[in-house]
Amino acid sequence: MKKQNLQTSRSSIDALKDHPWAAANAGAREIPTVGTVFAAVPQSPAQIAKRLKDAVRGTRLEEISPTDDTGMKSIFSVDVEDWFHILDVPSAPPISEWDSLPSCVEGNFMRMLDIFSEKQVKITCFVLGWVAQRFPHLVKEAALRGHEIASHGYSHRLTYQLSRKQFYEDIFRTRTILEDLIGTQVFGYRAPSFSTTEWFFETVAEAGYCYDASVFHAVREHGGNPNQVREPHVMTLKNAVLFEFPTSVCDILGKAMCFAGGGYLRILPLPVIQHMSRKVIRSGNPVVFYIHPREIDPHHPRLPMNGRRRFKCYVNLDTTEFKLSHILDEFPVTTFVNYIITHGQSMKVLDYA
Ligand SMILES: [Zn+2]
Repeated sequence: MKKQNLQTSRSSIDALKDHPWAAANAGAREIPTVGTVFAAVPQSPAQIAKRLKDAVRGTRLEEISPTDDTGMKSIFSVDVEDWFHILDVPSAPPISEWDSLPSCVEGNFMRMLDIFSEKQVKITCFVLGWVAQRFPHLVKEAALRGHEIASHGYSHRLTYQLSRKQFYEDIFRTRTILEDLIGTQVFGYRAPSFSTTEWFFETVAEAGYCYDASVFHAVREHGGNPNQVREPHVMTLKNAVLFEFPTSVCDILGKAMCFAGGGYLRILPLPVIQHMSRKVIRSGNPVVFYIHPREIDPHHPRLPMNGRRRFKCYVNLDTTEFKLSHILDEFPVTTFVNYIITHGQSMKVLDYA
């Protein structure tokens, strides 16, 4: 069964030889110079949505009848990383030590995949390149179960702490690692800790991605874009078009508040999360949920940190699986790529050039 799926995936890659991304992926997968990949390939949202539809046709990622789906589906995502990938705490180990640390991502992510199978949903997995190299079977298993594999970059560093070239190489490299593992294209990117900077979106597009999910529509420690548009939209950039999916927010006393992932999902009671989700859906938008494998494991190792961060990182870990189950029972969810295929052509287009 597994062999058959990989064969299907390879044939879909063969069908994409003329795709603009193919030039960047050819041969030994050398990293092209930043700024060159998309320079001559401006594309409309409709063209990209069609390309995605063609790319997933015949693979397990394809929804059975996405175009018949007139109801609103929300989007569920997992950032696939380990317990020691928390950012901006002095005790966080450098990448040179990661190999020597005990890992929890394998068991926790497999548990999540079983929950998704039980609920019969397909979701998007933003996989860290380092995790993909150390645990390639996790990526293959997720793809075999029909989930979308997307990129969380390789080294899990805050975007604005890297040069544009370093960032480009990090996310380009991760895309090729993931594509080599699953045999199909990778379309989406999410930045570590939703960190962005002024050259961020252009660089994500130049590295061959067609959507991003890194805008955090509220003030946060590691950046945040409180002035950005809050609903999914299309960015027209200088040399490309990029679909953007901000994290969902809901107004509380006139202030945008995140509720659909990470510490917010753990801190807020389930009825509040459900209420806010329904409000977002009533406004005509999907809820963009996100979660980490470590968050369903109350017993994973802890990094030493101050009390405030400790609360945010570890509060209510024992409630996450319960909330996850109820969210998936109530709200129909899909992947980013299938959302773009279904709704991409009607998304608002904004000029960022
Ligand atoms: Zn992360």
